[in-house]
Order: sequence, then C-alpha cells, then structure tokens
Amino acid sequence: MLNKQINQQRGRLLVVDDQPINIQAIHQIFADTHDVFMATNGQQALDFCSRTPPDLILLDVEMSDMDGLEVCRRLKQNADTRSIPVIFVTANTHSDHENACWLAGGVDFVNKPVNPITLRNRVRAHLTLKFQFDLLHDMAFMDGLTGVANRRLFDERLEAEWRRCKRSHQPLSLIMIDIDYFKLYNDHYGHQMGDDCLREVARALKTCISRPYDLLARYGGEEFVCLLPETDLAGALVIANALLDAVKALKLEHVRSSLDQLVSISLGVASEKDFAEERSPEALLQSADAQLYEAKRNGRGQVGGG
Ligand code: GH3
Ligand code: MG
Ligand code: MG
Repeated sequence: MLNKQINQQRGRLLVVDDQPINIQAIHQIFADTHDVFMATNGQQALDFCSRTPPDLILLDVEMSDMDGLEVCRRLKQNADTRSIPVIFVTANTHSDHENACWLAGGVDFVNKPVNPITLRNRVRAHLTLKFQFDLLHDMAFMDGLTGVANRRLFDERLEAEWRRCKRSHQPLSLIMIDIDYFKLYNDHYGHQMGDDCLREVARALKTCISRPYDLLARYGGEEFVCLLPETDLAGALVIANALLDAVKALKLEHVRSSLDQLVSISLGVASEKDFAEERSPEALLQSADAQLYEAKRNGRGQVGGG
C-alpha cells in the first residue's frame, strides 16, 4: 500500500542550467512523467526552492555567476531545503571534479551529454528514497488524525526554542488549548464524529498560525498546544483570542454544551522573558496549564492568563 503510494507520486523536478537548450533536452525526458520546473541561474534556483521546495534537483555545475557547487552548498546549509536531493549534471569527468560534487552535498551525478535512460533511472531511484524519507518523517512527527505536528515534535521544538530565545533575549510564549465538554460530545455524537470534530478544530486553529517558527501541535486527546517564539504575553493573548474566535466561527453543533450549544475551546496562555536559572520549559507548560484550568473554572469558552 505504502509502496504503491510512493510509486504513483509524480514528483516535482527542478532543472537548473544556464543553457536553455540543455533544460529543453531534460524537459523532454521527464515532461510526461514528472512536473518539471526550470531555473536558468543559481539565485533563481535558490529562490524557487525556498518558496516551493521541489522533490529533486538536476543541477548544472558550470554556470556563470553562482556555480552549481555553490548552489548545492547553500541548499544544504538551510534546514528547509537540506533534504532535497541534488543530482549534478556535468561535462567534466575528472575525479577532482567528481569529489567536489560529493563534497558540496550532491547525492549523485550524470555526465553530459546525458543518456536519457541513465538519467531516468537515477532520478527514479533518488525520488523513491526521497518519498520514503518524507513518509517516515511525517509518520514520526505528525499527528495521524489531525495532520498537525505531534507531541514528539512539540517537545523537541520547545526545548530548542527555549534555548534559542534565552540566548537571544527574546520572549517565548505558549498557549494550551482544550476542547470544552468533549467527553459529552463523544457520548452524544459518537467517537467517529468526535474524530471529525478534532480534525475540524485543528484545521481552524491552523488558520491562525502564520509565522514560520510558530508551531501548532496536538498535545494529546482533545488538547492542542501552540508554541510562539519571539512573542510576548500581549502578542500571545492576541493569538489566543484569534484561536478562540476561529473555533467559535466553525459553529459546530454541540447540544450537550452549555455554551450556545456549540463546540468551544478554553485556552491558557503563559510567557517567559527572563529565563531565570530555576525556570524551565516544564515550568512554562505548567503555567499555561494553570491558566487553562482558570479558564475552565471561570466557565470555559475563554482565554485564561490575561
Ligand atoms: P472539559 O470541558 O473540562 O475539558 O471536559 P472534557 O469532557 O472535554 O474533558 P475530559 O478530559 O473529561 O474528556 C476528554 C475526552 O476526549 C475523553 C476522550 O474520550 C476524548 N478523546 C480523547 N482523544 C480522542 C480522540 O482521539 N478521538 C475522540 N473521538 N475522542 C477523544
Ligand atoms: Mg482535556
Ligand atoms: Mg476538554
């Protein structure tokens, strides 16, 4: 099943070459089987990759301005583009040159003029590996039900962002989110509808998270958590209220809830700015949790911590 899924993926290829005629030749080989994109210089390729990362790059080595080796090194230095496999396409067959390709971070190379059959097979092999990697990565770090990050990724990122914000003297905020009367929801509508509700709520929450380092994760059961680096308490409260409103706007019926008979959430917000020695990520989590408890105690459907 997974194998079939991997084999049927079309794959997005980026072909980088400063000679349009070379791009044309490669385009002809893959046009029927893959989505082929093109760049005619290094900077264009880097911009394309940071906006819409392809699954694999065919990269010319000899280009004016920035050569292929430099493009590859830059891709490998950036965490967002690091896992894109790069196959070098090169007219130079000296072993020093080949070594430089490996050193820059390429996974393979093919010689110009390209043999279409060899190129097809190389691309297929590396794309299969890439898709397997992506799948494993998603399985390890994503919540299967809702598609948001899972607890494992959250725990890792919390530790990392704690250290980073402490070092750079930036605040770090957390929002704990819990669906109200969710046990009653399951009891009334059944577990299947409960799962659908979790998916809908996650989707609504996600629309409020827009900065690249912000993270929304499923913390467990019907609890979500939002990690907001470089965000102070005031900023976190704005986001918490947006989350509250986004779920309210879903208008999901919940006849057993005392809050307008609609699905609602309660939230707890906490922020760290001093990072004193006795403080820890666990303490920040506990603060957010205490605020969530307050929100529940005060009647639910609201933000605690303001
Ligand atoms: P409160 O307003 O105080 O938060 O009450 P609550 O009923 O939401 O909280 P409680 O912790 O008592 O119940 C949580 C419920 O969430 C119980 C459990 O069956 C349900 N739940 C947890 N995970 C899942 C899930 O993956 N799918 C479904 N459908 N339900 C889940
Ligand atoms: Mg709960
Ligand atoms: Mg609950």
